[in-house]
Amino acid sequence: MWQVWLHEDEAMTCLGFESTAHTIGVGVFDNECLANEKEMYTTIGGIHPREASQFMTSRAHGVVRTALEKSGKAISDIDCVAFAQGPGLGPCLRVGAGLARTIAHYYDKPLIGVNHCIAHIDVGKWACDLEDPLVVYVSGANTQVLGLKDEKYRVYGETLDIGLGNALDAFGRELGMEFPAGPKVEKLAREGKEFIELPYSVKGMDLVFSGILTAAKKLAGSVDDRDLCYSFQEHLFGMLVEVTERALAHTKKKEVLLVGGVAQNARLVEMMRGMAKVHEASFSVPPKEYNADNGFMIALSGQLMHDAGRDEAGDINQFWRSDDVRVTW
Ligand code: AMP
Ligand code: MG
Repeated sequence: MWQVWLHEDEAMTCLGFESTAHTIGVGVFDNECLANEKEMYTTIGGIHPREASQFMTSRAHGVVRTALEKSGKAISDIDCVAFAQGPGLGPCLRVGAGLARTIAHYYDKPLIGVNHCIAHIDVGKWACDLEDPLVVYVSGANTQVLGLKDEKYRVYGETLDIGLGNALDAFGRELGMEFPAGPKVEKLAREGKEFIELPYSVKGMDLVFSGILTAAKKLAGSVDDRDLCYSFQEHLFGMLVEVTERALAHTKKKEVLLVGGVAQNARLVEMMRGMAKVHEASFSVPPKEYNADNGFMIALSGQLMHDAGRDEAGDINQFWRSDDVRVTW
């Protein structure tokens, strides 16, 4: 299937740049993953956009150099250059966009602006060899349940306020954890025993995370951290699984795909897998290196767009929605 999708005879090399939030990533795609290099910004508080972008600028040169070395390609071998055009933090997006634009113009290569959310989906489909999945996209800033219909991903349900990862990070910060707190919350949650009731907020097909976050933050310090992490996760993931289950019943899709940074959470994977099984749908989650933000997924989407005759690039767009992209590949 993948070969048909890619027009094997047209195999080319795409260089991709990711810089939407915390990770400067550079990947090389040529019918397979030739390189996927990255450096990630961490912090005690939340992500400071200017500091994150300065971090990216300081690391970009080394990441590009290593990615090219590992890929065995010279810059002159590259056929097209892709970058994450949005959504994301403005100062960070500008780092990848500036680099990609400079390289593309200097070496006279096509430049392709990729939607970061769609790249998460494309790489998930590629890694798990799926055709038409119901997608659960859970990252720091985004939480959406989507499916492709008539050349656009339709959003069946999404967060009305903050992303699932942001909720975990902001809660973890209250417990003194560094960014990203999601993996640390997951670790403590595994030792939790007592279920503490928190607000459960599903609005139709959409989700609201700020109320439960406030309630959990208020309880911090007065109950066992492990029980609170466990209960917080169970509520958040339960809400998401409920909405996904209804979308699955509605669309009757046969595949469920979990993508984005939070998809690395083993408890969320377990809950989604169980739900998909009940509905006789397959369940897939890509390996970590493709699920966390990375440059390879941008190179892959860039190549798919290029093959579909979509050499398009515009200004960075901090708020570019996944359902605004015409997906013709
Ligand atoms: P992304 O925005 O796709 O790069 O994903 C980053 C988000 O994923 C951050 O909010 C992290 O805290 C979160 N994250 C990463 N690993 C885990 C994990 N094991 N459990 C929960 N959240 C995670
Ligand atoms: Mg992401």
